[in-house]
Amino acid sequence: MRELIYIWLRKIESMKVFKFGGASVKNAEAVRNVGKVLNAYAEEELLIVVSAMGKSTNALELLAKAYFEKNDEKHEIYQQVKVFHNEIIKGLLISSSSHTYDDIENLFIELECELENVPDPNFDKVYDQIVSYGEIISSRILSAYLNEEGLKNRWMDAQNFIHTDNTYREGKVDWESTEKLISGKLKPIVKKQLVVTQGFIGRNKDNFTVTLGREGSDYSAAIFAYGLEAENVTIWKDVEGVMNADPKKFVDAIKIDAISYPKAIEMAYYGATVIHPKTIQPLQSKNIPLFVKSFMNPEAAGTIVGVSKEIENHLPTIIIKENQLLLSLSSKDFSFILEDNLSTIFNSFAEKRIKINLMQNSAISFSVCIDNEPNKVKELIQHLEKNYSLKTNEPVELITITNYTSKELEQLTSGKKLLIEQKTRNTLQLVVS
Ligand code: ASP
Ligand code: MG
Repeated sequence: MRELIYIWLRKIESMKVFKFGGASVKNAEAVRNVGKVLNAYAEEELLIVVSAMGKSTNALELLAKAYFEKNDEKHEIYQQVKVFHNEIIKGLLISSSSHTYDDIENLFIELECELENVPDPNFDKVYDQIVSYGEIISSRILSAYLNEEGLKNRWMDAQNFIHTDNTYREGKVDWESTEKLISGKLKPIVKKQLVVTQGFIGRNKDNFTVTLGREGSDYSAAIFAYGLEAENVTIWKDVEGVMNADPKKFVDAIKIDAISYPKAIEMAYYGATVIHPKTIQPLQSKNIPLFVKSFMNPEAAGTIVGVSKEIENHLPTIIIKENQLLLSLSSKDFSFILEDNLSTIFNSFAEKRIKINLMQNSAISFSVCIDNEPNKVKELIQHLEKNYSLKTNEPVELITITNYTSKELEQLTSGKKLLIEQKTRNTLQLVVS
């Protein structure tokens, strides 16, 4: 009896969420590999969240821009996107008589028609309507392929479950309705059958697509896991796990076996690209562990994020956020940078949706390190210039080091000009050029 109860309990909590990113579906061979990874989980209750294929989001960004600017290049870019996906479809031998094959064809026709409409004056809105095709097409192809391979699955539109506000390109999740939809409508389906859906996209009350920010598919996986109360989430990557430094820059980088939620949030926030920064919080709030594993070596343990507070590691971690801009302000009327000025300054950042990665203030000046996004920064500067003298420094790097020793410090700063240094007990942040 006890065993029965145990099995029954386990059954309830055994739902898993897998996220496959662009690199894991970048060509036909990669998609086939996803099938291989999934074969080992054929008996599980599983939701698969997939990103756009390879670098197709970048191509679709160009398409959105050309369409918005009524530039004839849009036809050419559209063709490239289509050819790229058709190659993958061909490579996967998806039979042209299957109805999913027709669905994919229809999506391209739909996109092509959309490009003939007069674009909406809001670029961010246009962007989301166009760029989201990457995920829709990718998930259709993956679903069709898996079905042909005998991994019977149901394709579902993530937009039916993830609801957002109207912040195009950076949708804020409406947690109440999203949780209700996922647990009420999606969960019973996932219990019965493998489901393939998209990362990155949701829908607003006006029925338009809203994306969750670049690289947002990890976040989608976390949102679904939250609503499903999943047992765990796995992000399948082309690296073996979360590393203590970028292996492309540090040959002696090593994999971290386990880290706590707060540590993972901090690493992601300060530029470790392996997990999207927003991913952890929803998981942490329901104590859902996150695995980061290699799709090339699926049996390997990878990294586990979260679960218990005891997980702490004392490896030094080094995160470098490149392409930063250091902006220093001082007031033109010689007033001190106190509450009045600070509130004006912060409001301008919020209005332009610019995130501050590090800041430092003194009586008469205020410096911030921000992502160097030319358009946003230009607007911000125009806005602040009226009342402040501004100085910019670019490109700079923001280096965040934890558990550091003098050895790491020397290595990182040699030959570089130190612009700002901030130290806490375990963490050191440097802005260098
Ligand atoms: N396809 C989107 C991007 O490239 C979302 C993602 O990959 O997570 O940003
Ligand atoms: Mg991606």
